[in-house]
Amino acid sequence: MNKRLVILIFSVSILFLTTGCTKKPVTTKTNSEILHVATTIPPLSMILEEVASKEIVIHQILPTGASPHTFEVTPQILKQLDQTDIVFTIGHGVDNWIYNVIEITDGLKQVTVDKHITFRSSHDHDDDNHDHGNIDPHYWLSPDNAVQIAYQMADALKIQDPNNADIYINNAKLFEEKIGEKNIQWQAELEQIANKDIIVFHDAWGYFSDYFNIQIVSSFEPFPGKSPTPKYLTILQETIEKHHIKALFLEPQLSTDAMQTFATDMNVKLGNLDPLGGIEERKTYIDLIDYNVKTIIDTLK
Ligand SMILES: [Zn+2]
Repeated sequence: MNKRLVILIFSVSILFLTTGCTKKPVTTKTNSEILHVATTIPPLSMILEEVASKEIVIHQILPTGASPHTFEVTPQILKQLDQTDIVFTIGHGVDNWIYNVIEITDGLKQVTVDKHITFRSSHDHDDDNHDHGNIDPHYWLSPDNAVQIAYQMADALKIQDPNNADIYINNAKLFEEKIGEKNIQWQAELEQIANKDIIVFHDAWGYFSDYFNIQIVSSFEPFPGKSPTPKYLTILQETIEKHHIKALFLEPQLSTDAMQTFATDMNVKLGNLDPLGGIEERKTYIDLIDYNVKTIIDTLK
């Protein structure tokens, strides 16, 4: 048993001692049954907002501005999960930190929202600690997949709260329609850009680029959180020249100083793609995709 797990079990034991194990699956508030639902990353909360009825309280676990690749669970989160009925997760390495906690949190229903997803394979391979496996886990960044996630959430909520089943299914349908309408605009805007070859900070944009016909030529950090080697940067430099790459794309949640220096040296533009959102201007799923489409267009034109 590793040290972190021991600490987790210890914290949870204390929690149960102080709360006397009084976890209730459904809390009664103002005579209505309130369902407490948690999600691991902000885009899942955004999709859940679309599907949710008024009888749901949403708890966002990953704080805004944090990266799931470098995050660790705190005792406060354990306490919050003790009050939670369902937790929606991405799985496949993105939110590994939640799974140990779920194992030791009594009566918490966990749903990995990947049921209807067609996976891409990951470019990078790992031996020890790096958390992208053979499957590319960033599937929420394709709007089609977001719709599938919405339907899976609706199915899970329907079981937990059958009185509002129609609301959840209907909300998922409305979300699908909104995405459909918005997509016409996104595709039209992207048609203005002839060369859509780009280099991204880490290998998170495969589903997004498949959906929008953008070519991800390479990534700056093949292993998120680990700086690229000088040898890797030499290869990247050749790739930039060969593909006439005009821009590199940073991410707000990871430390990107090295990439900024590299971009200056190479005399290419920098854009800022956001896989997670959650901040004021990117509070809804559509806003998040909108922002990223606009960033690509503004940086490449
Ligand atoms: Zn990632």
